Amino acid sequence: MKVGIVGAGMVGSAAGYALAMQGAASEIVFCDRNADLAAAQAEDISHAVPFVSATVVRAGPYQALRDAAVVILAAGVGQKPGESRLELLERNVAVFRAVIDDVLAVVPDTILLVATNPVDIMTEVATRLSGLPPERVIGSGTILDSARFRSLISRHLDIAPQSVHAYVLGEHGDSEVLAWSNAQAGSSPVTDFAEQMGRPITAEIRAAIDDGVRNAAYRIIQGKGATYYGIGAGLARIVRAILNDQRDILSVSMLMEEVQGVGQVALSLPRIVGRRGIVASLMPTLDADELDALARSARTLKERGAGLVF
Ligand code: ADP
Repeated sequence: MKVGIVGAGMVGSAAGYALAMQGAASEIVFCDRNADLAAAQAEDISHAVPFVSATVVRAGPYQALRDAAVVILAAGVGQKPGESRLELLERNVAVFRAVIDDVLAVVPDTILLVATNPVDIMTEVATRLSGLPPERVIGSGTILDSARFRSLISRHLDIAPQSVHAYVLGEHGDSEVLAWSNAQAGSSPVTDFAEQMGRPITAEIRAAIDDGVRNAAYRIIQGKGATYYGIGAGLARIVRAILNDQRDILSVSMLMEEVQGVGQVALSLPRIVGRRGIVASLMPTLDADELDALARSARTLKERGAGLVF
């Protein structure tokens, strides 16, 4: 199946590379207002393909997106060191206004997968501008934060990250909520498992994991200017769930009617992802502090998105 990627910069190309390496799509098409960049990324990635898969990778105008089952929106302006995700907002809304009409003119019933930051608000923007049902406009949201959370817990417990089930909820950003109270290792609560393994999760360990998850992007940007491999792999993971109708439970963003008393806000919850997009959203059982934090995260996003004109 064909996957389109609009925006052939660092994130878009990392997603294309991850998809090609996994052989997840039959065809990948890059579109970018910088046509030379799109062509160069497609050619470079196509040279990696013979080593692993048979994916056709090419670049083209929007018409080349015809029949794409999923279109990743990675177009935008990059985050600069020290710049908050929300400062990017106005500039990226203008980019989406330019892109979405052109995409939908070619593939009116595709699934949009939003990667551009601030991703939750851009998911709301893409939903409103496209007029698509919310379940067909998926934001990468906290998929990467949840992966970091699982990875740090698993390292502490010395087990595989795939055996840890833990989610980061709410905003992909400063107000995100690490749902410790329902994190599981195998079939046990992580705290019980950690005690049994003689590796208790002390307040210090918990704070270090919290910091590791929450501040990872800032540290990476400080060191190399941008983050892209992690999110590229996360986007490929979501695309796989859609193309293969896997019905995986992934923490991704979507515009919701209401969450924790806040109406019309996009944020991440664990959601079932399959061929039709988001099949269902799940509200995990949280403790009182986590519920408060989720409500705060929803209010923060709502306030920051207020005043946007569509
Ligand atoms: P990131 O690190 O988020 O991937 P980049 O700056 O590397 O950021 O990539 C963003 C890409 O989006 C650039 O290649 C840029 O040319 C592209 N882009 C920006 N505006 C538009 C637009 N209106 N239409 C298509 N592509 C765009």
